[in-house]
Amino acid sequence: MTDAIREAQDRGERLREEIRSFYDHILPDDLKTRSRRHQVLGKSDYVRWMRLLHEQGWAIGHWPMEWGGQAWTLLERFAFEDQFARLGCPWIIPFGVKYVGPVIYTFGSSAQKSRFLPGIATTAEFWAQGYSEPGAGSDLAALRTEAIRKGDHYVVNGQKVWTTYAQWADWMFCLAKTTRDGPSQKSISFLLVDMRSPGVTVKPIATMDGYHHVNEVWLENVLVPIDNLVGEEGAGWTYAKFLLKNERTAGAIVGVVWHALERLKELARQSGSASVRLEGRIGELDLRLMALEEAAYQAVESMMRGTEHGAEASLIKLRGTELYQHIAEATIDTLGLAGVAYDTAALHAGGLPPLGPDDAGGIIKDHLYNRAATIFGGASEIQRNIVAKTVLGL
Ligand SMILES: Cc1cc2nc3c(=O)[nH]c(=O)nc-3n(C[C@H](O)[C@H](O)[C@H](O)COP(=O)(O)OP(=O)(O)OC[C@H]3O[C@@H](n4cnc5c(N)ncnc54)[C@H](O)[C@@H]3O)c2cc1C
Repeated sequence: MTDAIREAQDRGERLREEIRSFYDHILPDDLKTRSRRHQVLGKSDYVRWMRLLHEQGWAIGHWPMEWGGQAWTLLERFAFEDQFARLGCPWIIPFGVKYVGPVIYTFGSSAQKSRFLPGIATTAEFWAQGYSEPGAGSDLAALRTEAIRKGDHYVVNGQKVWTTYAQWADWMFCLAKTTRDGPSQKSISFLLVDMRSPGVTVKPIATMDGYHHVNEVWLENVLVPIDNLVGEEGAGWTYAKFLLKNERTAGAIVGVVWHALERLKELARQSGSASVRLEGRIGELDLRLMALEEAAYQAVESMMRGTEHGAEASLIKLRGTELYQHIAEATIDTLGLAGVAYDTAALHAGGLPPLGPDDAGGIIKDHLYNRAATIFGGASEIQRNIVAKTVLGL
């Protein structure tokens, strides 16, 4: 281990301690409890949460100091996401601070940096990611949304789909084709779309947990000023890939899996009649978690040394999300009747579940919603393709 990695590990450990202390002394009880029960949080809850993180200097800790960050190493970044997930805290909304912020400070104009970065850091403005379209999810280059230049504006027409929290968004970063000619990857540009523009329509899609997380976003003759083009016209594919690399830093998944498995172990102990079969199932899940944890640390360290093979994030996303789903299935089984009595009233502040422990409703909700975890952020088949090509050379 190099000195730089040892030092980064020490800093990561100190950050974990600070986070545990923040959790004990600063995080408001209502957020703690609702998050522990996996209850539904609204926009104002998430904004409050993100601002609390920003007050500690953490929401943009991974940004360069020049833009108000702390220039965290990858190990500190991993410790940050992992520790909060282990504590069962709310989701750290990535669309602004993790996704579009780094694109803007890396490729944006100085006007865009001063206009957008402060609002992203404080979550004064809420962002959504407008990449996927019907027929263009895994194969993003097949997207059909067009942004045709007319004077000082692009006229944008098309449809985005699965856009998480577009119903709350002030802004959406969006991939669109700025020319109808030439190879598709060279015709894509990266635009910042004001969600209040005439011609933007957000239509909810209900997911199987019964909630409204995702949307269709229709864009009909939406005028986007040319000043909202990030970087160069036609170079959007490069920025899109840069962003996906950030999206795939798999920090939180290890912590999420750890937290879910601890809860399963606790439920098994409380049931007092854990069968040999359940114990065996938990033992196997535990081993898979250890392997995931080790792979994640090795991946972060090799990225810091510059010796990564390029498929690390895919491996961790693949193994982590599958393991999470298997733990969720075992937890639902362990809940018995409480694991089938899904009552969404239990998922709102003050609501109590009809059966079982006070987080039973939330466990079912997360189990249902997270069937999508092996689809979003790059489907499992796509991650397998990346591993096959990069590691096995197939
Ligand atoms: C809950 C949820 C939230 C999301 N949030 C957002 C968001 O905020 N913003 C956004 O832009 N997108 C979002 N997405 C979209 C997500 O990124 C896509 O669903 C994902 O990339 C898969 O694309 P698709 O749905 O078009 O499926 P497809 O790409 O059509 O895939 C269908 C199936 O075919 C398989 N497949 C496709 N290509 C290959 C291949 N080459 N080899 C082998 N198998 C293949 C896939 O793995 C999958 O099993 C979200 C999706 C979900 C479910």
